[in-house]
Amino acid sequence: MSTTDYTSFYQRSVQDPEGFWREQAALIDWHTPFNEVCDYTQAPFARWFVGGTTNLCHNAVDRHAQQRPDAAALIWVSTEVKQERIYSFAQLHREVQTMAAILQKLGVQRGDRVLIYMPMIPEAAFAMLACARIGAIHSVVFGGFASHALANRIDDAQPKLVISADAGSRGGKVVPYKPLLDEALERSAHRPQAVLMVDRGLAAFEHVAGRDHDYASLHPQHAQAEVPCTWLESNEISYTLYTSGTTGKPKGVQRDVGGYAVALAASMKYIFDGRAGETYFSTSDIGWVVGHSYIVYGPLLAGMATLMYEGLPVQPDAGIWWELVARHRVTVMFSAPTAVRVLKKHDPAHLSQHDLSSLRALFLAGEPLDEPTARWISEGLGKPIIDNYWQTETGWPILTLARGLTDAAPKLGSPGVPMYGYRVQLIDENTGEALQAAQQKGLLVIEGPLPPGCLQTVWGDNDRFVRTYWREQGGRHYYSTFDWALRDEDGYYYILGRSDDVINVAGHRLGTREIEECLSGHPAVAEVAVVGVADALKGQVAMAFAVLRDPARAATPQLAQALEVELFKRVDAELGAVARPSRVHCCSALPKTRSGKLLRRALQALAEGRDPGDLSTIEDPSALAHIQDLLRR
Ligand code: AMP
Repeated sequence: MSTTDYTSFYQRSVQDPEGFWREQAALIDWHTPFNEVCDYTQAPFARWFVGGTTNLCHNAVDRHAQQRPDAAALIWVSTEVKQERIYSFAQLHREVQTMAAILQKLGVQRGDRVLIYMPMIPEAAFAMLACARIGAIHSVVFGGFASHALANRIDDAQPKLVISADAGSRGGKVVPYKPLLDEALERSAHRPQAVLMVDRGLAAFEHVAGRDHDYASLHPQHAQAEVPCTWLESNEISYTLYTSGTTGKPKGVQRDVGGYAVALAASMKYIFDGRAGETYFSTSDIGWVVGHSYIVYGPLLAGMATLMYEGLPVQPDAGIWWELVARHRVTVMFSAPTAVRVLKKHDPAHLSQHDLSSLRALFLAGEPLDEPTARWISEGLGKPIIDNYWQTETGWPILTLARGLTDAAPKLGSPGVPMYGYRVQLIDENTGEALQAAQQKGLLVIEGPLPPGCLQTVWGDNDRFVRTYWREQGGRHYYSTFDWALRDEDGYYYILGRSDDVINVAGHRLGTREIEECLSGHPAVAEVAVVGVADALKGQVAMAFAVLRDPARAATPQLAQALEVELFKRVDAELGAVARPSRVHCCSALPKTRSGKLLRRALQALAEGRDPGDLSTIEDPSALAHIQDLLRR
């Protein structure tokens, strides 16, 4: 298919969405057919495939277990514990039913929340699929988050059950999970009824009698359990996944069942060009949206084997990923620019030492893909590198090149063009007017209804969903991505960065507000600002500027240094090391406008060694001078 053909495919999706999505709905099995493709009468809330009943687990596991029982479904490789396990679709079907039976035994019913706080082990995927099977709502929390972040999410999701493990492992170092979970459960107001523990034998842990249950002990009694799929109305909730926004309180992105299944199945076909019987390898983590969509659900929905990897990209050496691609005949691979930048520090010979003939393309997402990185990896692998732009909220790519439909060449620096179903526009932030001409910077918005698979709402807070994301203009509703972008003359988009206080560290989205709240909880800190600062490896890192209650402490380098270490530890313990700032600079004052608004952009510019721009509104110019001085030192 040529680019022009993609244009007509796209046009049809936005001009006749009903017809288009009705056709795509045939990519999955329905237990009972839907009676309406999209109900948008309660705009901006969209309901897809109204009245139809289906099940994600049926579509991801059962239907393939019938058709190709012996084909690989889940390939788990851990270079951390040096193990590898392959589950066929029939075996995955068995394990998921066992897990589902255990969940039921522990009291989990349709609509109940199950919080999953686990490392990259097969049981995490079993747990997600088992929830989907019985209509429980999973909420996976990234294993890198610590007790405070976890407690917040527990209180918001109110899970009946928490599933966890003794520990993960990173670079050969055991990372215990259970003590963080126990601490989170002490701090949270909500108390789940039970905790299910997968004991990997990595770290001894305390067993709380009456609350904690051992997966291995429960497994034998349920090893032959038959747990039929619960047929769910398309708009019931499949999961919530927390993401950072502009407030300290993370938002639970809530997704449906039918729309998500259809959207993912369609994306596997049109965007990723993944085919049943092949192997898909996404290097993400189940704690992020890529892990949900393209480690667990997407590949399995397409009847592909999914390769789940626990380990670093550079151990035992920087060729490990390519060795896995060769050994498991991976056809589609998905990673993040940061990971490639890590590989780039190692011998490029690793890229050419393995037989990569099976691989068709490498997709990268989660943060801007810089040109040198794109060039390095594309030349090293000799494969197309496909950038794709999307968000936790959308669940699947907004901008990219649909590899199943077109072999249009990527343009360096651009993720590509709008995907079918997304009515993308650039608008003037202040007037809301659509920018028609090319090369104009605007806010990237999507006209509602959002296509299937995108968030239904914010869990438990419809108001926040509308307030945060939507603006109404001329009777139409527009979803804001909070990203600046521009479009070139050929219709390719370029992402220019966030318009809010969200930062992107190594592809992980973090809210500066959450980090600020954590730091300002320290008794020595009077006030603090956190900004994202450009970093050659991680894209961005968080940098903090703290005003101390005791100015003498800030002025004594040894004391300020000791405090910085204390603050690092505080962030590690409360939010997790992912959120740890690169530096906490102790300063005399923060740069603010006369009306008291923090001059965040000026702070960021200074930290990046740029001109801080217009400072006419600054209250106290000496604050900035002091910070400049600190940064120079
Ligand atoms: P998350 O919800 O964690 O996936 O983060 C989504 C945000 O990451 C987007 O709003 C963008 O700011 C950024 N992002 C994701 N993919 C890309 C990409 N391909 N290019 C540039 N920025 C991206």
